[in-house]
Amino acid sequence: MKITPNFLLRYLLLTAVFGVGCGDNSDIPPAVTPTVAVEQYSGSGPINIVCTTNIIKDLVRQIGGNRVAVTAIMDGPGVDPHSYTPSPQDTNALTAADLVVYSGLHLEGHFDGPLESLKHRGIPVICVTGGLSNEQPTRLLQTGDGIADPHVWFDPELWLTCGQHLAAELSGFDPDGEEQYSTSAVTFAELMRSTLARGVEIMASVPEERRVLVTAHDAFEYFARTFKFRVEAVQGISTESKPGLHRVDELVKLLVDNRIAAVFTEQSVSDRNIAALVAGCEAQKHSLKIGGRLFSDTAGAEGTDEETLAGALLHNIRQIATALGATESDVGASDQSSNATSLQPDTSTEAKDSQ
Ligand SMILES: [Zn+2]
Repeated sequence: MKITPNFLLRYLLLTAVFGVGCGDNSDIPPAVTPTVAVEQYSGSGPINIVCTTNIIKDLVRQIGGNRVAVTAIMDGPGVDPHSYTPSPQDTNALTAADLVVYSGLHLEGHFDGPLESLKHRGIPVICVTGGLSNEQPTRLLQTGDGIADPHVWFDPELWLTCGQHLAAELSGFDPDGEEQYSTSAVTFAELMRSTLARGVEIMASVPEERRVLVTAHDAFEYFARTFKFRVEAVQGISTESKPGLHRVDELVKLLVDNRIAAVFTEQSVSDRNIAALVAGCEAQKHSLKIGGRLFSDTAGAEGTDEETLAGALLHNIRQIATALGATESDVGASDQSSNATSLQPDTSTEAKDSQ
């Protein structure tokens, strides 16, 4: 391992700029302290990178290409990063990594301890949203609690910035790959912009008055800003917040009063709160359907079109547009057969945790 003068200077600058961790609000304690890789890779072969979620795994693959071998701790569409607690095996996988990459902004609510201990062991850790925390004016959305909303991947412009930040960090850790990382960041930015353009085109087919998205937890504020929707959720930005009966009643009233036809379940969150909305609307003779099962905090399973963030985002857009009135020719895809039309058994980690 060697630390070059240039790299040291860069580290000091980044530390000075970012201060601590990923949080952008000085009143809120950061998830972990500095996330900059201070040592360079000295191994041979692909860099063993362990990520927290599979959305991060996709980003690392897109930017790292064949220079990296990537795995994710929460590697599946049904895993809830807000409530997931790392197991001893997960901690072993993290400590065996050459490099660890996480999302940040308090998304991984139970990873503070393990990530902090990696720092003490000298294992470099990168927070992909670190670059966003430094922007002035910020593009991050703030919650009512004064913390930044972590679900930034639903704004393709923000997510391509995370790709650029990751490319810069990987270049610091593995200078031989700098050219590849920066080329990949450009290609990834093009992918995000073409996904955004396609999403805007599909959403244009949904009349403005129908652009109301009701979901299980508040993961879609960036999505709403990008695609000009109003979003309402039963739970807050973390699935660990507990919704009150009052919130359910409030949403039932909104759905009935505005004759909203569909609500949406999520891959990584229990259906129970959405079931309460359906039952509440039925009691008032308003027929409410499940418009689809959206990807919120995770992308799809390996080997599916939705294993990438771009694929998962387009899946969401098509499901939402179709349920709210777009035709098949508007959405231009034949993947509507995967629409969830009924509530699923409680299999999320959030549901298990609370049992
Ligand atoms: Zn979430």
